[in-house]
Amino acid sequence: MHKPGRHFLQIPGPTNVPDDVLRAIDHPTMDHRSPEFGDLGLRALSGMKWVFKTAADVVIYPASGTGAWEAALVNTLSAGDRVLMCETGHFAWLWHRLATRLGLEPEIIPTDWRTGADIAAIAERLRQDDGHSIKAVCVVHNETSTGCTSDIAGVRAAIDSVGHPALLMVDTISSLGSIDYRHDEWGVDVTIGGSQKGLMLPPGLSFNAVSAKARAASDQAALPRSFWSWDEMFAANRTGYFPYTPSTNLLYGLVVAIERMQKEGLDAIFARHQRHAEATRRAVNAWGLEVLCRTPEHYSGALTAVMMPEGHSADAFRKVVHERLNMSLGNGLGRLANRVFRIGHLGDFNDLMLAGTLSGVEMGLKIAGVPHARGGVGAALDYLSGEISATAAKAAA
Ligand code: PLP
Repeated sequence: MHKPGRHFLQIPGPTNVPDDVLRAIDHPTMDHRSPEFGDLGLRALSGMKWVFKTAADVVIYPASGTGAWEAALVNTLSAGDRVLMCETGHFAWLWHRLATRLGLEPEIIPTDWRTGADIAAIAERLRQDDGHSIKAVCVVHNETSTGCTSDIAGVRAAIDSVGHPALLMVDTISSLGSIDYRHDEWGVDVTIGGSQKGLMLPPGLSFNAVSAKARAASDQAALPRSFWSWDEMFAANRTGYFPYTPSTNLLYGLVVAIERMQKEGLDAIFARHQRHAEATRRAVNAWGLEVLCRTPEHYSGALTAVMMPEGHSADAFRKVVHERLNMSLGNGLGRLANRVFRIGHLGDFNDLMLAGTLSGVEMGLKIAGVPHARGGVGAALDYLSGEISATAAKAAA
């Protein structure tokens, strides 16, 4: 059936790709061994250092985020190594499963999937590990399945407070370019990123930012690695080239996406995301529904997961929104299947796109017969417009 107008892609990634990024990708594929290519490669690599806030090395893989998860582990660890992970939600659980499949011995600190990583529990477990058998602590910065963030500076402080030498690995797949993140300042050893969320690109690129300590660990690490091997990447990257065929056209897009981000500025981007998240939560509260994240200090700027009232199917509601209103919302994953829907408000996004998104949710609740109060959109718009007026008044004063 023909659906006029633009589809609203409001899942928490992949996100809307801005037109100039699409235009950049839509160029003839170049020879990735040509003299011109090295310049593109170097621009992409140095731009990603800016995004990660690091002076350390960055690796760009032609792969989805799962590949960069695997790369972080196989480059730094050996079979049987103990790894401490935090089960903040479905993605943390998938990373744990990946570690198990690789022959690592991950231990997992559980949560109720409604909050961030338990920092006190991390510190306590590391304190007990006198023999330093735990080789890495792995945390998902923004758990895309729940809309809860974790305090990465706090995790670093917990590791330091007990003087433990474990590597710190952080998944920023749905926070990078949306929520404040600082690879160097927070002492992260391997940061994992992906192209399809805050970076406003299609899926297909993923990243590792690698500290000097992680590089040193990779010299000793014995897990088999070939495609993911950092060494060959670093050697070729020095001149902007890759050891195998890179995703050339996505790199065209990446350079333009980073230029867009540099024009807006990272702080402004993070503030924009927080503002849209706050407006979304106000809408949810006005509807009389509940935000899944129960600890405000962990609220996500990138997405909001909303709990469905008892006895109502989140998937049936999402189906109505998709079919009748031409909008995609995120589904509940793992143990949250059919119990929550997720509103993505990340990437290339503005006030009126959010207004349209929330209008679609409010209409969908009505059409699907989900009990709610009216006025969510109004509450969000009041907040957004009030905030614009307050900022203007401050500037004029
Ligand atoms: N980690 C997080 C936090 C994610 O949101 C995702 C995907 O949405 C992944 C890992 C897996 O990435 P991919 O699906 O690109 O392989």
